[in-house]
Amino acid sequence: MTWIEDSARHIIDSLPDHVTLVAAAKTRSVDEVRRAIDAGVKILGYNYVQEAMTMRDSITQDVKWHMIGHLQRNKVNRAVPLFDMIETIDSFELAKAVDRQCKKINKMMPILLEINIGREAQKSGILPENVLALAQQISTLQHVEINGLMTMGPVTVEPGALRPYFKLTKILFDQIAAARIPHVEMKYLSMGMSDSYEIAIEEGANMIRLGTILFGPRHDKS
Ligand SMILES: *Cc1c(COP(=O)(O)O)cnc(C)c1O
Repeated sequence: MTWIEDSARHIIDSLPDHVTLVAAAKTRSVDEVRRAIDAGVKILGYNYVQEAMTMRDSITQDVKWHMIGHLQRNKVNRAVPLFDMIETIDSFELAKAVDRQCKKINKMMPILLEINIGREAQKSGILPENVLALAQQISTLQHVEINGLMTMGPVTVEPGALRPYFKLTKILFDQIAAARIPHVEMKYLSMGMSDSYEIAIEEGANMIRLGTILFGPRHDKS
């Protein structure tokens, strides 16, 4: 058994049943991705539409595809047919563009709202105080369905210091669920990466995005 299969199986076995794993597969080769799928990975997360499209041509196994990077408006047309979920919706304009394209191909797109919980300047994501209003606005669109929230957490802090940010995101998640907005199904709270997923799960994450711990260190800095 190879290192990837070994580590991926080990991680997958160790996760609580209610937690959904998204393999953050950026920069990984076809061979690496296939091995991760053989080990039990069922969802691939990509940061770029083009990289996901290239990979999809090579992957014959049955997996789901999640967009986990910032989605540019001019990539929406290509992203919509490809992805099973877009985790990074952070504006009404972007949601509308996705909705419009979904309508054309008669697709319902599950989406997560990306929260800029660390209030970092120049970062994608919605500020916490704007999320409820945005959820209400997006809920009126016919071809996208809000399924929860996603956050990266601030990049500047140590993994251990992410806990309060995860806590805040969970509070926000519960608030939106409690608002009982029609057509909004708060099912997924996507937070936690290789060095923070255990903390994230303790704080209520039920979707985690893992790269390094499944595949090994990336050789570039992306
Ligand atoms: C790369 C990436 C991850 C996973 O990061 P690791 O530290 O390698 O586990 C999770 N989420 C997003 C959005 C990413 O780009």
